[in-house]
Amino acid sequence: MSELVSPDADDEDLDAEASVRPRRLADFIAQHRVRDQLELLLKGAMGRGTPPDHILLSGPPGLGKTTLANITAAELGTGIRTTSGPVIERSGDLAAILTSLGPGDVLFIDEIHRIAKPAEELLYSAMEDFRVDVIVGKGPGATAIPIDVEPFTLVGATTRAGLLSGPMRDRFGFVAHLDFYSPEDLDALLHRSARILGVPITAGGAAEIAGRSRGTPRIANRLLRRVRDFAEVRADGVVTEETARAALKVYDVDALGLDRLDRAVLRALIESFKGGPVGLSTLAVAVGEQSDTVEEVCEPFLVRAGLLARTPRGRVATEAGWAHLGKTPPSGTVQ
Ligand code: ADP
Repeated sequence: MSELVSPDADDEDLDAEASVRPRRLADFIAQHRVRDQLELLLKGAMGRGTPPDHILLSGPPGLGKTTLANITAAELGTGIRTTSGPVIERSGDLAAILTSLGPGDVLFIDEIHRIAKPAEELLYSAMEDFRVDVIVGKGPGATAIPIDVEPFTLVGATTRAGLLSGPMRDRFGFVAHLDFYSPEDLDALLHRSARILGVPITAGGAAEIAGRSRGTPRIANRLLRRVRDFAEVRADGVVTEETARAALKVYDVDALGLDRLDRAVLRALIESFKGGPVGLSTLAVAVGEQSDTVEEVCEPFLVRAGLLARTPRGRVATEAGWAHLGKTPPSGTVQ
C-alpha cells in the first residue's frame, strides 16, 4: 500500500503535522459530542481545582487522539508527559515517569493496550490512589516501598479498546470513542490547514481532497501537502478541483481514496473470481501480496466503503464494488 492513504504517521507527517495540529479545544474540528463532553469534564475539574478523571480515547489511527491529549493539558494549563504502551517494558520504567510528574500534569500513554502486565498493575494504584509500590530487592527479601506521586490525569489512547483489560478500563472515569470524519468535517479541516500553511484552496479543491481522505484527518492533511506540491510545480499554486484531481491521479489515489493495491484487490476479486466468494489467501496470491497485508491494510477500508464483504464462504465484491470499477454486477450480488 502506498503510504499516502495509510492512517499511520510517518516521519514526514510528524514534522508536518506539528504546524497544523489544533492546540485548543475550540480549534478541534468536528467530533462535537466528544468535544462537548471533554469540555464539561475539564471545566468542571478546573472549577473544583482538582485534576479531572482519567481519560480513555479509543478509535482508529489518525483521528485526533494525540491531539486531544495535548489539548487536555493545554486547556488545564498543565505539563504533559508522552509515552506509549510498547516502550514501557518494566514497571520501573513507568514508576520513574510517574514519580517525575508535576502536580496536575497529564500523562499521555499511546497504545495503552500494549503496556506490559506488571506495569499495568503498577498503573492501577497510581491511577486510583496516586501511589506506587516500588519493589526493592528480589526473592523472599523483596520489599515494597510505597511512593506517593502527584495527582495527575492519565490520558490513554488505544486503537483496540477491546484488548484493554476490564480492571484497566474501569479505572477511566471518562471514555470517548472517536469516529471517522464526514467529508464535510474534513472539508472544514482542510480549509483550516490550508489557511495555516498559506495554501490558496477553492471550495472544489477542498471537497475533492476531503472525499478521498478515508474519513481520516491525517490522510486529509497529507493529501493536501501532496496536492500543494503539484499545484505549485505544475499549476499556479492554487488548489482547485482540477489540480486536486490531476495530482491525485499522479499519486494513484482514486475518487473514493483507494490506492493501487486496494484497487488491485477489488479488480482481482471481480475479474479473476467473478466477484467471489474467494478465500483470503487465494485473493492475496492473485495480487502478489501477503494475506496479512490484504487483510489488515486493504480490507478494512474496502469493507467500510461498502465495496467488499466478508462472508463465511469467503470475500465477495458488493454491488458498489462492481460499480466502482464501472462494471455491472451479476444478479444476486450482495448489496
Ligand atoms: P491519532 O493520535 O488518533 O493517531 P493525531 O492526534 O496524531 O491522531 O491526529 C493526526 C493529525 O490529524 C494531527 O496532526 C492533527 O493535525 C490532525 N487532526 C486530527 N483530528 C483533528 C481535528 N479534529 N481537527 C483538526 N485537526 C485534526
